[in-house]
Amino acid sequence: LPAIWWVRRDLRLRDNPALAAAVHDGSAVLPVFILDPALLAKAGPVRTAWLHAALQVLDADLRERGGPGLSILRGKPETVIPRLAREIGAGEVQVSADFAPYGRRRDERVRDALAGRDVRFVTTGSPYGVAPGTLTNASGGPYQVFTPFFRAWTDRGVHSPAPSIRLADVDWLAAERRISIEADPELVAIAGEEAATRCWHRWLERKQGGVTDYADLHDDPGADATSHLSVALRWGHLHPRTLLADLAARRSKGSAALTRQLAWRDFFADVLFHRPDAVTRPIRPEFNSMPTDEPDRSKRAAGRLEAWQQGRTGYPLVDAGMRQLLVEGWMHNRVRMVVASFLVKDLHVGWWHGAEWFMARLRDGDIAQNQLNWQWVAGCGTDAAPYFRVFNPTSQAKKFDPGGTYIRRYVSELADVPDEHVHEPWLSPVGVPDGYPEPIVDHAEERKEALDRYELVKRA
Ligand code: FAD
Repeated sequence: LPAIWWVRRDLRLRDNPALAAAVHDGSAVLPVFILDPALLAKAGPVRTAWLHAALQVLDADLRERGGPGLSILRGKPETVIPRLAREIGAGEVQVSADFAPYGRRRDERVRDALAGRDVRFVTTGSPYGVAPGTLTNASGGPYQVFTPFFRAWTDRGVHSPAPSIRLADVDWLAAERRISIEADPELVAIAGEEAATRCWHRWLERKQGGVTDYADLHDDPGADATSHLSVALRWGHLHPRTLLADLAARRSKGSAALTRQLAWRDFFADVLFHRPDAVTRPIRPEFNSMPTDEPDRSKRAAGRLEAWQQGRTGYPLVDAGMRQLLVEGWMHNRVRMVVASFLVKDLHVGWWHGAEWFMARLRDGDIAQNQLNWQWVAGCGTDAAPYFRVFNPTSQAKKFDPGGTYIRRYVSELADVPDEHVHEPWLSPVGVPDGYPEPIVDHAEERKEALDRYELVKRA
C-alpha cells in the first residue's frame, strides 16, 4: 500500500529515518507538508518566509529525484491527513516525532482520526540526537540539571546517520488539490539541505572563526565565529546526528565545545517534554511571586519594552543585539543572554514578553530552546543562572566586544565613536552622538531594584 511521508520539522532528504521507513518496502510514497493555520498564526512573517523558501527548495529537490514534488496542502492535519489517506488508499503515515506540546496534541488527534480507517500512524526518528524522554536519572525521573544529563547523553552515544537510499527509484505520488506558494528568491538561495550542508562544511574548514576556534571565540559576537546552524537545525535541513558524526571524527577542543552545545539543545527539548507547562509558566513555582512591570498595565513598562524591541535603550550592546534581530532574524548567543537579562533584570518586564518578541522574529525560533533559554536567563528555569547574578550590559560589552566591532556593525550612530566611548557613549565629553538615546535606565539602580524584588521570591 502507498505511504504518506508527512514532513514537519525535517525538511531534508538525506539521513531521514521517517522517509527511509516510508520507502523501505518499495511502496509508493506521497510527500506532503500541511500549512496548519494554528501553527502559522504563531509563526510570524520571519519564520513563515523561511518556511516558504524551505518548502520550495524541498519541492525542487524532490523533483530532481524524478517525482512530481512536494504536495503542499492547507488545513487542520486531523482533517487533511485522513482525507489524503483515503484518496490514495494509504496503509501508513510516516512522521518524525514532534515533542513540543502543540505537536504532541496534534499528532494524537491525527492518530485517533486514522485509527478508525485502518491506517497506521508511525513515528520514526526525531529531530534530536537523543529523543526527549529517553534519558532518566538514577531514580527513573527526568534530569533537572544539565551536567548529569550531558554525562548520560555522552554515555548513550548518538546513532550514526541513516544509510542513504536510492530516491531516484521511488514511485513518488502527488496529491490532487495541492497548492503552490510564493517564496523570496534570496531566501530560496540559502534555505534547505544543500545550502545548510555547504554552510556546515565551509564553517568546519574555515581557517579562522570555524570549529578550530569555536572554544575560544564562540562568545565573541564581533568575531561571528559560531556555526549559524540553528536555523538549519530548527527546520531539519540537517540532523544533529550528521553534525555530531563529523565532530566526533575531529576530536578537538572546538568540536567538544560544539558537541556540548548540541547536547543543550537535546536537554531543553527533554525538559519541555516533561514540563509542557514551561511554555508559559516558570519551572520554579516560587517565581510566580516575582513582581513584574506589565506593559499592558503600565505606560512606563510599555515604553521600556518598545525601546528594548527597537534597539533604543542607550546601552550599545543591547541595542546592537536587538537591531541584529530585526535585520537578520538571528542574534548571537552571548548577546541573546545580555538582552534577555536586560529586559528581565533592568527593565523588570516579565520574561514571557521577551520570549514572545523573540519567537515572532527569530528564524530559528523554537519553543523549547527559546522558552527554556529565557527561563535560564530569568533564573526561573531548570539549572538556570541564579537570579542574583545580574549581567552588567556595559561590562559584558567591554569583555566580549572590547573593540566595539559588533556594536558598530549594528548601531550606525556609534560607528565613528572612539573605542574608549563606544561602550559608554554617555561619558563622552561631546555627549551621545546625534540620534542615539541616552540610557533609559541606570543599571546600578535597577540591579538593586531587581534584587529587592527577588527577596519576595526567596520568601515564597
Ligand atoms: P552555535 O554556537 O554554533 O551552536 C551550535 C548549535 O548548538 C546551535 O545551532 C543550537 O542548536 C545549539 N545551541 C547552542 N547554544 C545553545 C543554547 N544556549 N541552548 C540550546 N541550544 C544551543 N536557539 C534556538 O535554536 N532557537 C531559539 O528560539 C533560541 N532562543 C534563545 C533565546 C535566548 C534568550 C537565548 C539566551 C538563547 C536562545 N537560543 C535559541 C540558543 C542559542 O542562542 C542559539 O541556538 C544560537 O545562538 C544559534 O547560533 P549558532 O547556530 O551559530 O550556535
